[in-house]
Amino acid sequence: MTTILEQGNISIHTENIFPIIKKWLYSDHEIFLRELISNAVDAIQKLNMVARSGGYSGNLEPEIQIAIDKEQKKLSISDTGIGMTADEVKKYINQVAFSSAEEFVEKYKSSADQQIIGHFGLGFYSSFMVASQVEIDTLSYQEGAQAVHWSCDGSTQFELSDSTRTERGTTITLTLQDDELDYLEASRIQQLIKTYCDFMPVPIKLDGEQINKQKAPWKESPSSLTKEDYLEFYRYLYPFQEDPLLWVHLNTDYPFVVNGILYFPKLKPDVDVTKGQIKLFCNQVFVSDNCEEVIPRFLLPLRGVIDSSDIPLNVSRSFLQNDRTVRRIADYIAKKVGDRLKELYRDDRQEYVRGWQDLGTFVKFGSLNDDKFKKQVEDILIYRTTWQGAGNQASTDAPEVQVQSAEGDAWQDVSPKPEADGTPSYTTLKEYLERNQSRHENRVFYCTDEVTQATYVELHKSQGLEVLFMDSFIDSHFVSFLEREHPEVKFSRVDADLDETLIDSDKSSEIVDPATNKTRGEQIKELFQQALNKPKLTIRTEALKTDNEAAPPAMVLLPEALRRMQELNALLQQQTAQFPEEHVLLVNTAHPLIQNLTKLSQGSVLQSSGQSPSAELSTLICQHVYDLALMAQKGFDADGMKAFVERSNQVLTRLTQN
Ligand code: ADP
Ligand code: MG
Repeated sequence: MTTILEQGNISIHTENIFPIIKKWLYSDHEIFLRELISNAVDAIQKLNMVARSGGYSGNLEPEIQIAIDKEQKKLSISDTGIGMTADEVKKYINQVAFSSAEEFVEKYKSSADQQIIGHFGLGFYSSFMVASQVEIDTLSYQEGAQAVHWSCDGSTQFELSDSTRTERGTTITLTLQDDELDYLEASRIQQLIKTYCDFMPVPIKLDGEQINKQKAPWKESPSSLTKEDYLEFYRYLYPFQEDPLLWVHLNTDYPFVVNGILYFPKLKPDVDVTKGQIKLFCNQVFVSDNCEEVIPRFLLPLRGVIDSSDIPLNVSRSFLQNDRTVRRIADYIAKKVGDRLKELYRDDRQEYVRGWQDLGTFVKFGSLNDDKFKKQVEDILIYRTTWQGAGNQASTDAPEVQVQSAEGDAWQDVSPKPEADGTPSYTTLKEYLERNQSRHENRVFYCTDEVTQATYVELHKSQGLEVLFMDSFIDSHFVSFLEREHPEVKFSRVDADLDETLIDSDKSSEIVDPATNKTRGEQIKELFQQALNKPKLTIRTEALKTDNEAAPPAMVLLPEALRRMQELNALLQQQTAQFPEEHVLLVNTAHPLIQNLTKLSQGSVLQSSGQSPSAELSTLICQHVYDLALMAQKGFDADGMKAFVERSNQVLTRLTQN
């Protein structure tokens, strides 16, 4: 029989805070295990420190054992740590643990509607959420210490007595409440250890078997880790996912402590960029599956781990966002990410280009959202281009060769090399503007859809005009952003208008009919106006350069300003933009089909009045030419399609009649 040394009252002000905690933290009961294991790890590390400073010379044998006794409904956590004397129990448990729990409850009350991040601050006391009785059996490391036994049922009453324990360390034994018996299931405990304690630096054993991984790669020095180590860790955290493109190892002690590894995952187009997947840790203890408040919004699609003991965790999430340290940590992370991207651009532009499809989304999203980040990455924003580096084919230098010899800021000068195997080449805006300065100063041609704008891209390409592809889902915003950033530069989509270089201006104004004084262009315009009869359609005639085989008989143009208004309207009304009724039909008077058409219609004029067969045919052909131009632009609705098919059959019938 042990004699009770002391019975007493724990001096806290809120009488029996247990019911309050139980009520509020209902869904988070499981954190008790995290708290108790954290305390065990702390105790082991404290002994370690004492040993290092010469205050203890026995063996350390760091280890945490979890035991389950189903019959007695008991769960116990034992450590080989520093232990406690009776005085320490009174001080650290009766006073510290209970009063910090009380403090926590006070805080929680005032922000009861908000979620406190990870429910930190409850500590030892959280065991009362699941236990009807909690016992401590502990022996301090100190020479000649007396083992003690403490027990409490969650009320303010406790009992303290001598214990017969002979091993240094502490065992916390919980007698579980009847509605918490699932913590007697080994699988449940195992799952909790995996979730919360996987990376704690001490082996945690259940029935003699180590459950936790123990090693936390983010705490190691980057130079000690190989590429495979990083990939392996990623696969461990996010199983069955494609390997990441790139990672950043965060590692700083001043002015705040942040460790972590952030990965750039392969982005799927349907990825929800508003949902964070970065795991937040505090001293290797898992806190939360997302840390949306801690990292800048534009970095949310990143994955990995952030570990910082400087992030206040016993506060509400909304408080966290405005915390000064947290904001500085966020800035630090953004800066590191930017640095890493610049480093890759400089050291391995091929790899950078290869990952651009995904990386680009981060970089653009970040530029749109964060001014500092924008400045950091503005020189490494690249665009896929039609430019194949004419006259540059001889150069087969791998980009690295050039880059490695460069120093300092020289990465800005590394132009993209066209890939010998025809893979797309990329350019910066600066390079684009410089390259095209003499032909079209401060003018950028871009394409948002390679399929529907293929005709237009071809036309530009064949005339030696360089087109940039702005075809990722973020690019429609990004073009406007670029225009704000570079007000002197005009961006026009390839189907917005035709550059002068594409037009043979001499031929366009050629007068053909001395009687009416009409140019060929005017004649054709009238012909189409009559045949199409669409008041909102503007018909424009130009002679496209005849050496240009890519030039079609007609093409639909959507003037840049008009199209953008439309897109904006659609956006405001949350609809997808319809093909605008107001558009331009550009008829190419230099095309043989159009020239034949003129002859055909002239023939009909000679044949006197009425709907001659050739006038009818020329009307059909005008409509057909228009439809083909629309088709190249995907501007067809169901009715349009029906009419097109019917007329196609009509035209073919006519053609086979003779
Ligand atoms: P915190 O860990 O934040 O200090 P807790 O409520 O978790 O708060 O614990 C209160 C105190 O009780 C600890 O600081 C420590 O001194 C003591 N303690 C708790 N568990 C142990 C243990 N397993 N071994 C030694 N001391 C412990
Ligand atoms: Mg603790």
